[in-house]
Amino acid sequence: MKFYCLKCKKEYPLNGLDYKCECGGLFRLKKGNEEKVDIEISLGEVRTPIIMKEIEGVKLHLKFDYLMPTGSFKDRGALVLINALKQLGITEIVEDSSGNAGASIAAYCAAAKIKCNIYIPENTSEGKIKQIKAYGARVIRIPGTRDDTANRVLEAARNIYYASHVYNPLFFEGTKTIAYEIYEQIGVPDFIFSPVGNGTMLLGIYLGFSEIGKLPRIIGIQSGNCCPVYNKFYGKEDMEVRSTLAEGIAVKKPARIDEIIDAVKESEGDMVKVTEDEINEFYKLLGRMGIYVEQTAAAVIAGAVKYCKENSIAENMVKVAPLTGTGLKK
Ligand SMILES: [Zn+2]
Repeated sequence: MKFYCLKCKKEYPLNGLDYKCECGGLFRLKKGNEEKVDIEISLGEVRTPIIMKEIEGVKLHLKFDYLMPTGSFKDRGALVLINALKQLGITEIVEDSSGNAGASIAAYCAAAKIKCNIYIPENTSEGKIKQIKAYGARVIRIPGTRDDTANRVLEAARNIYYASHVYNPLFFEGTKTIAYEIYEQIGVPDFIFSPVGNGTMLLGIYLGFSEIGKLPRIIGIQSGNCCPVYNKFYGKEDMEVRSTLAEGIAVKKPARIDEIIDAVKESEGDMVKVTEDEINEFYKLLGRMGIYVEQTAAAVIAGAVKYCKENSIAENMVKVAPLTGTGLKK
């Protein structure tokens, strides 16, 4: 297996310090048909259940991905990435995420005995990093903005392996397993709804179903308060970004924005944005159904129901929406 640049096709080894190409292009994974990452280190991942529920008259197959070991689908990515790094002999990594990705990577590093350094903005709330610290990761707080944190992690990444959930294709090699599971459980659905922040799930869905050989229509969901992908997809001016309840998808400048848009277009999909009121409404509604998830997950269900109603999607169409993260972390 190798990384290759999406722009100029230059190849790079998996265990190098380059996290993107010298030409500026981002990496994707190059591998033979039979090649895959061996899983030796496990935290008890499950094949998450898929259960059909009717929500406001719309029948959705919910994929319970918050039942993963650290409480979010990001474990899919961390499982494959950290197993691969262990086998490559990597002993220390850096990463920047105070959210679900940070927790997943910290947990699998702990299991793999890889030293883990997580860079976060100084003003990150203690509650958000409690789980990361519990896994024994070193947390480095950086003063200033999210961009300052990004710059500092890139500085550190000159000497230490950057196990990025955004740049490292091995992470997407893991998130794509959701497509294979859905395929085994119900076949290729007609529609699949996905949160869009950095696109870790959406691109995983795209890569997985591409390998399977048939793409469902991929509908990306963003919060109206932070929707750079929605705006670019529809050729709209970027508007001012405001804070949103859907913290997990509040990404101002997704590095893989063009890949995300290409994937949605190739699938003949669409982009949807939801309001804060809609997120809150579906957060409560899911709770009353016995489903306690993070607000980012509620945003996806809100977007899915809205899309199906507005576009009069036929009842017999198979529609899948993932429940990305537990509500228990807050
Ligand atoms: Zn290149």
